[in-house]
Amino acid sequence: MTASDWKKILKQIEKKPEKVQRFLKHNKPKERKIGIAAKKCERCGRFGAHISSYGLNLCRQCFREVAKELGFKKYS
Ligand SMILES: [Zn+2]
Repeated sequence: MTASDWKKILKQIEKKPEKVQRFLKHNKPKERKIGIAAKKCERCGRFGAHISSYGLNLCRQCFREVAKELGFKKYS
């Protein structure tokens, strides 16, 4: 199970409070302060290749797609 789909499962069992409690106790991913899993792309949720400069918080793939709209220019 990846970190992104534990919330999907939570949505599926939201009408069964006992199951939700048990799920949160055993399956919820750890809250992290440091490391690669602490930073996540705001657009797609990817962990790798994170750009945090200028407060972007995007992965490189999303940055490529959105850069022109943000006002970045390519000089090559
Ligand atoms: Zn992304």
